[in-house]
Parts: sequence; C-alpha cells; structure tokens
Amino acid sequence: MSIIAQASQNDKTKLSINGVEFTNNHGVPFETALFAGYHSTLYSGGAPRVGKLSTTTLIGPLRKAIYGMLQPESTEPQDVNFLLASAKGTAMHQGMTNALTAYGSGYVCEQRIETEVDGWKISGEFDILTPDKQIKDLKFVSNYNLKKLQEDMLILQPGMSLEEMYEQTPTYFKYQAQLSVYYYLLNDPEVKPYASIIFMINNGSDMGKFKVDSEVTFPLWPREATQEFIENRVAIIKQHLADGTLPLCSDSERGFSPAEYKLQRAGASGVLNTVRGSKFNNYNKFREFVIRSGKIGDVEQITEAKYTLCNYCNYSSICTQE
Ligand code: SF4
Repeated sequence: MSIIAQASQNDKTKLSINGVEFTNNHGVPFETALFAGYHSTLYSGGAPRVGKLSTTTLIGPLRKAIYGMLQPESTEPQDVNFLLASAKGTAMHQGMTNALTAYGSGYVCEQRIETEVDGWKISGEFDILTPDKQIKDLKFVSNYNLKKLQEDMLILQPGMSLEEMYEQTPTYFKYQAQLSVYYYLLNDPEVKPYASIIFMINNGSDMGKFKVDSEVTFPLWPREATQEFIENRVAIIKQHLADGTLPLCSDSERGFSPAEYKLQRAGASGVLNTVRGSKFNNYNKFREFVIRSGKIGDVEQITEAKYTLCNYCNYSSICTQE
C-alpha cells in the first residue's frame, strides 16, 4: 500500500498525508501519528451542512447539529492527537470489512446511502448487511457504553414514546435510532425489521462484568415512525435557523450527573466505608444527616455535579449554554 506521507526531517510536528495537512503537537509517536492521520482521511462522512444531515448528527443533540452548520469549515490542520480514537474505530471497521469480504457469501459492508426528507439530504453508512439482510453495526467502544445500555434496558417500559426514550434511556435510544434510520434509508422490504450492534470493547477495566465481544439485537421502528422522527427534527432545525436561535441541550444530552454527598467512617481495620443512609444528591439533606448521625472522625466526601458529555463536545469552546 502506498501512503503518501512526508514529514520534514527537522519538524516532526507537521505531517502531510494523502494531501491533507496535520499537526502533531502533543508528542504522539511518529508512526501512531501517521496511523491517526491516514485513517482520518478515509472517513467518508462530513460536517453537518444546511440541507444535509448524517444519521449520527440527526439522532444527537440538535444544538450541536446547528453549531456544526454555522461553523465555517476550518482550514486549520487538525492535530493527530484528537483523531486517534476515531482512527482506531475506522481501522477496526476496515478490518471487519476486509474479513467479511474475504469470507464472501454476500456480505455488504460500509455502504453509504442517502435519501431526501422535506428537501434535506439524510445520509448514513451502515457497517454490515448480512447475506440474509440483517443490518449490523460495529461499535469499538469502552465497556462503559455496554454498562449504560444494560442500565437503560432495565428502565425501558412498553409504550414509552420516542421522546421519553430519548431522555430516559439515551444509550438504548441512540443505538435503536441509528439502526432504524439505516433501515429507513435502505428502504428494502427484504431487510429484517430487527438489527444488531456488535460491540468490540476497547478497554480493560471491569472486563469480568461484561462479555468482551457481544451482540445486542434491537427491534426497529416502523418506517412511518422513522420518517416522522426525521421530519420533526429537520423542522426544528429549520425553525431555529430561520429565527437565528439555538435549542438548549437537555441534561441527558449533556451527560449530567448530579452532585453526590456522602459520609465515610473508618471501620475496625481503619478502612473508610460509606455510612449507611448517608448518600444524598441534595446538600441540605446531607447536612441534616451529618448533624443527626455524624460522629467525630467521619469524612465528608463531595463529588461536584458535572456535564460529562460537554467535555467531549466539539463545540464546547463556543457553546453559550450555561
Ligand atoms: S457543549 Fe454541551 S451544551 Fe453545548 S452544544 Fe455541546 S453538549 Fe450541548
């Protein structure tokens, strides 16, 4: 394979790969930097534009979608440090495609499809369509995603609306919505009305609790429901663009976890244990507990409230939501 990659002999912080410029300002090892830059040039999706939405953007926070549309496309070289995670995912997908293509028997892999809804192009790239026409998507993620999915599956109730699922079971919703949009885009009556996520786990902690590689199958939304979902979201975006406004991200979209207060007490062995009944999300209730049941030597442990997903959002530096 020929990778057109050049790095100046004297300046390894600048790379040109397949005609695209990158920086390496965080000391990523040279070969890893080549890997990250190269695989990022293979990504076939693009930033959201007015009139064009990818499946991933469509099912995520609409505030982020609009920020993406309003941002002028950056001409600054990207730093390979921020491309590493997605490059690993791209390489894993390419590896799966190579394996299934070599195996043959009618697998279709990594095919981009698009359709038009209310004048807007909606596109998506499914990972795998099996020979008997089941959609499967490969996720190269941490086991945290599997944990969140399992928690959501315990909360799911028959008859929940899509809006309720979006807020209350966001991980389950995200996977089911993505697969359902692919099903809608494929528009083939022979494609099965259920689809799977194949999880490949990329971290080692808690391995005992989760199967390293597993497959979870989801029932898909009927085509009419998916069409309505897409139409609603496109209409909301159009309205905000026309009004020059931005929707707010919800707590679930921001990955909100409330502050946690608890009291710890040393046992006979000196090890600190949480005092039974001392855990609160509310500071005043925690204080009342401390006054009522605290003992000299107890340790107060306070975890601040946080919006975890905002830390990973591409638009956090310009976002004005408090
Ligand atoms: S930074 Fe947080 S609130 Fe702002 S767009 Fe991103 S996810 Fe939403």
